[in-house]
Amino acid sequence: MPYIQFLGAAGTVTGSKHLINTTYDSSGKQGFQALIDCGLFQGQKEWRERNWQDTPVPACEIDAVILTHAHLDHCGWIPRLVKEGFHGPIYATQPTIDLCSVVLPDSGHLQEEDAAFHNKKGTSKHTPALPLYTLEEAQECQQYFKAVEVETTIQLCPELSFRFVRAAHILGSCMAEVMLKTDGQMRRLLFTGDVGRVRNNQVAPGKVVHSGPQEGESADVLVMESTYGNREHPVTDPRPELARLIRETVARGGSVIVPAFAVERTQKFIFILKALMEAGKIPRVPVYCDSPMAIRAVEIYLKHSEEYTPRAAELIKKYGSPIEWPGFTFAQTAEQSKKINDSHFPSIIISSSGMVTGGRILHHLAQRLPDPRNLVIFIGFQAPGTRGAMIKARAPEIKIFGEFIPIRAQVAALEQFSDHADPPEMLEWLRTFKGTPAVTYLVHGEPQASSQLRDLMKKELRWNVQIAEYMERVPITAT
Ligand SMILES: [Zn+2]
Repeated sequence: MPYIQFLGAAGTVTGSKHLINTTYDSSGKQGFQALIDCGLFQGQKEWRERNWQDTPVPACEIDAVILTHAHLDHCGWIPRLVKEGFHGPIYATQPTIDLCSVVLPDSGHLQEEDAAFHNKKGTSKHTPALPLYTLEEAQECQQYFKAVEVETTIQLCPELSFRFVRAAHILGSCMAEVMLKTDGQMRRLLFTGDVGRVRNNQVAPGKVVHSGPQEGESADVLVMESTYGNREHPVTDPRPELARLIRETVARGGSVIVPAFAVERTQKFIFILKALMEAGKIPRVPVYCDSPMAIRAVEIYLKHSEEYTPRAAELIKKYGSPIEWPGFTFAQTAEQSKKINDSHFPSIIISSSGMVTGGRILHHLAQRLPDPRNLVIFIGFQAPGTRGAMIKARAPEIKIFGEFIPIRAQVAALEQFSDHADPPEMLEWLRTFKGTPAVTYLVHGEPQASSQLRDLMKKELRWNVQIAEYMERVPITAT
């Protein structure tokens, strides 16, 4: 009998990996095996250690990967899968492939840096500490990517086909609508990946690409994310508060440090800053975008103008490419990055990683957290156990590069910049469904978030909703 097995993003928000097997019998015969997403576990050590475990079926027996989008928690384990023997096609949209060509090598580079750091400090159980995969290995896996147009059906084997529909989460992001034949019957499985926010520029401002997930879906089995299952986004426009925070910081001679995902969040944020500056709502202080990945991501965004919202298209038409905006500096090299540290005048520094788990943001925070004039603004989800979550919770100090750095800077968080739908938005989207799925499995959420969303869906929609468990295998039956 065909089944889905949840190999990640079950009980947590990272490591998205869902295996579909078209047939399985007691003799152990395996059917066609496809992985929906192949993400990296991030955050707490307990989760990260799973990056080192093998898949329950050998990587070489997995026939295909269907990738919803280019965030690391959905694509970051691909180089490891390839390293372990996977040689099948990886289906994704062209913008996702373009973004992966930047995101994955960068991840490999960080893995190498991490291993080198542990080897230098002797802080790993393993000698020598090895990277999960290298930059070069991440580059090599690019050859397996195959571009798929949105809403074009791809037949994988006689029993299995899929097509992408828009998720409106980040550039190129899609849901995977999978058709699976079981006992002569077609079953429709919908894997949401991450679900974007509603179409509302006031409550979800700055959206660069398509907003609102595709409406009127139908599914027999729905596998849905639940990142924000227990929290509603504020419905107020965040821009006046953001402008006030920036003005106050600049007035006291401080700088604003913004940890942001290099993909989507950074682009969205610089557009908002530009608009606020042009409207005279914030002073024209230098803006540093300190992420070589963000600059490449901007180039990829500019290439895929077909994905823009009308508002983003209008801004680009009016102000041109962000890379050429006066006062905005995109730091490419390590030297350019270090130069930002020499600047003692108020500025706005946007850098990654978004959850402060690594990358150049560490240098900026190590230097600027001890000064109470500075401000750190979080504009994205902070997974438990990450430095970002600890700073956001106003821990008195934080360990960066093996040293404890006191947190005296002001800390603020604006939740409206999220690219994930919240519970009311999820319900709004689910109500557009053409029928009721036989079962919904919630994934990609902390346990509390998933259980609250389950309860809400049961109460409001009366759907059969379950929370996926790590390694759980669920059969896909005919009706
Ligand atoms: Zn995502």
